[in-house]
Amino acid sequence: MAIRIAVVGIGKIARDQHLPAIAGSGDFILAATVSRSGADVGVPGFADLVGLAASGVAVDAVALCGPPVGRHVLAAEALRHGWHVLLEKPPGATISELAVLPAQAAAAGRTLFATWHSRFAAGVAPAAAWLAGRQLRRVAVTWQEDIRRWHPGQDWLLAPGGLGVFDPGINALSILTAILPGPLAMREARLLVPADRQGPIAASVAMAAGAALVTLDLDFRITGDQIWSIVVETDSGTLRLDAGGERLAIDGAGQAVAAAAEYPALYARFAELIAAGASEFDVRPLQLVGDAFLIGSRQVVPAFTW
Ligand code: NAP
Repeated sequence: MAIRIAVVGIGKIARDQHLPAIAGSGDFILAATVSRSGADVGVPGFADLVGLAASGVAVDAVALCGPPVGRHVLAAEALRHGWHVLLEKPPGATISELAVLPAQAAAAGRTLFATWHSRFAAGVAPAAAWLAGRQLRRVAVTWQEDIRRWHPGQDWLLAPGGLGVFDPGINALSILTAILPGPLAMREARLLVPADRQGPIAASVAMAAGAALVTLDLDFRITGDQIWSIVVETDSGTLRLDAGGERLAIDGAGQAVAAAAEYPALYARFAELIAAGASEFDVRPLQLVGDAFLIGSRQVVPAFTW
């Protein structure tokens, strides 16, 4: 039987990816939405989870697609209602608030899935396989995009808890933590914060992966070519991921990978976890962002307007 799912927070990512992925999935059926602004997508809609729970509309799972602040409260509430929970990335706004969720999901016998959509990009699994057993020499991440083009009007991104440029940057960290053979340690960060905002609009970060230097160049102000690339130099060749992990090259030669299907693959994984009675909850990318905020120097840059 299809898993009846409610999507909570009908914004850009819900409309662009979650609703189409659910519509195309044989595993899920959209049962309801929860929208504070009353978005109507043709299924029963509710203002909050309490209203959904009281409605009698049968739901097995929820996908939490709003901003990170408040996500953990919704997740805890959804688990109390006995629903499986899919968390958009990042799984929450702080690391400490997340500590309680896995035990709560286990006690409820429900699946908790902290998703990292970029890990489902087509080049990521083959990149991890190629890197296994190789010695890292140097890793360089460039994640440069235009905030006005991809996140129009999303003031929450540059507000406390919104992560600023680490909102896309955490996708690179989710890939690195999946493909690099060992752990990452934060060393230095420089955060550029607009005078009228709280979150960084650009950042440069240095980390260590064993003896190898890992650098991140994150910038939300780039209006030309949009770059989401990771270059990994090893003792036996150089790997390059482009387009956020969708394209893979080894020593300059493009590799054949599957067609792009991040969100369909993500929902297939959610169904697999539910069927297995398992959870998947990896907070390492958010820990690294937390570390960058802990150690980062801050430089004020001109105010940001949309
Ligand atoms: P968005 O367009 O701003 O939508 C977020 C939605 O959440 C809003 O439309 C609103 O929907 C609901 N919401 C609840 N509380 C809110 C609040 N305090 N402020 C603003 N909205 C609130 O954001 P988004 O781009 O969809 O991003 C949502 C999450 O998805 C983020 O964690 C982001 O990192 C992740 N994500 C985004 C992208 C992308 O390309 N945009 C890609 C992958 C992942 P209702 O009015 O219906 O409640």
